[in-house]
Amino acid sequence: MSVTTPLTVGLGNRFARELPELAVPWQAAEAPDPHLLVLNDPLAVELGLDADVLRTPEGVRLLVGNVVPEGATPVAQAYSGHQFGGYSPRLGDGRALLLGELVDRSGRTRDLHLKGSGRTPFARGGDGLAVVGPMLREYVVSEAMHALGIPTTRSLAVVATGQQVQRETVLPGAVLARVASSHLRVGSFQYARASGDLDLLRRLADHAISRHHPDAADAPQPYLALFDAVVAAQASLVAQWMLVGFVHGVMNTDNMTISGETIDYGPCAFLDVFDPETVYSSIDQGGRYAFGMQPVAAEWNLARLAEALLPLLHEDKDRAIALAVDSLAGFTRTYSAAWSAGMRAKLGLPEGLEDALATPLVDEVLALLRSNHVDLTSFFRGLGAASRGDLEPTRGLFLDLPAYDEWLQRWLATGPDADAMDEVNPVYVPRNHLVEEALAAATEGDSAPLGRLLEAVVDPFTERPGLERYAEPAPEDFGSYTTFCGT
Ligand code: AMP
Ligand code: MG
Repeated sequence: MSVTTPLTVGLGNRFARELPELAVPWQAAEAPDPHLLVLNDPLAVELGLDADVLRTPEGVRLLVGNVVPEGATPVAQAYSGHQFGGYSPRLGDGRALLLGELVDRSGRTRDLHLKGSGRTPFARGGDGLAVVGPMLREYVVSEAMHALGIPTTRSLAVVATGQQVQRETVLPGAVLARVASSHLRVGSFQYARASGDLDLLRRLADHAISRHHPDAADAPQPYLALFDAVVAAQASLVAQWMLVGFVHGVMNTDNMTISGETIDYGPCAFLDVFDPETVYSSIDQGGRYAFGMQPVAAEWNLARLAEALLPLLHEDKDRAIALAVDSLAGFTRTYSAAWSAGMRAKLGLPEGLEDALATPLVDEVLALLRSNHVDLTSFFRGLGAASRGDLEPTRGLFLDLPAYDEWLQRWLATGPDADAMDEVNPVYVPRNHLVEEALAAATEGDSAPLGRLLEAVVDPFTERPGLERYAEPAPEDFGSYTTFCGT
């Protein structure tokens, strides 16, 4: 049973009030023996929450949804989704709850959300639960993404529930407390559209404009401007993933936000060696969401958003389609511009270097990285040293040295800016072998490796002594890495 609490957490219920058709009031399952595994102190401060209070037994019960702040209306959100291309009309939060919205210290509205909080009416065959490893993976990877400057949901805490959860083996249960600028998804719009209720679709679009893309309200066609804005936000987001080697793993339409934040870290991972065909998810047999496919997948999802929005774009269906097609063409433009600018920055190319020189430098080095099986993160960080005159660290990564040396000389001749490169090429990303090591230890009750990994990845651009192993590529025997979905 959940009880209300006088804990001073001002949670609003705007989503539940404005969009009741998408919100099923619900309660979290009782956690038998909750204890805090990790709490994000800086984020708590940002949210205006007292971390010391969150550490008390009552605070921990709040973080699993077993005490509810006064005035809050926790809800399971309804949404649809294309999963690996197949449409599911009714997905929704099967194991998650939106506790409500809070206004952070800078005046921004943020959702406070729980994942792993028990079955809801959307649970279908699922148990509504989550386990320690995957919830910590979301915590580590989302906080690493944030530190890399990539828009993402944040992680406030992971609490072990004390419940045993049946997976392939029996594993300790956990709840992740997540923060997002909202949980509106492409799938939310698909659900509203499929309901046939045009007023609901319009209210959802108005809600999204107000929360994420307020400039659209003043545009001649606000709903078209909303679509333009989502296209631009997603194009920019996916370009950032591609620059840092992030593989989301499950880019279903229910896992794509309207805000442009990365959401729902499941079988996600960072590339070790650079290869566009890399797939980590055990369920992605066809490679639909392989690293190099991500821009295409994002654009495909945005076409599904356009379909959902059509009745709001124009009363004439053909006109509406033409507007949507035109707007969606902005994806490639924005994506290409963001990616090219990002690649120039990674290579430290001087501003004003003509495309005729820059483009082949980018294309050729990526081809070399691929054919030589080079570790992406080590290579780009090593280029900083190379431009300072220490060529050996990057040279040591290549088998075809003549080809690399030829490229290196042409690149050095552009006069790359080493300091600027070190600001965009991370030393520390949550490498798969380190994540696995940390999660395995935490599942066994030892959270020290997790703490050290977090220490490295939350400050990714500053090389620090003592963290050498967090900068190194995976050991040879780590082999091909697979993570499992639905956990
Ligand atoms: P995901 O692939 O994690 O984004 O989840 C897809 C859908 O499955 C969402 O509707 C989730 O709420 C639901 N889901 C995933 N795992 C569970 C679970 N253990 N119990 C209930 N629903 C789940
Ligand atoms: Mg999801």
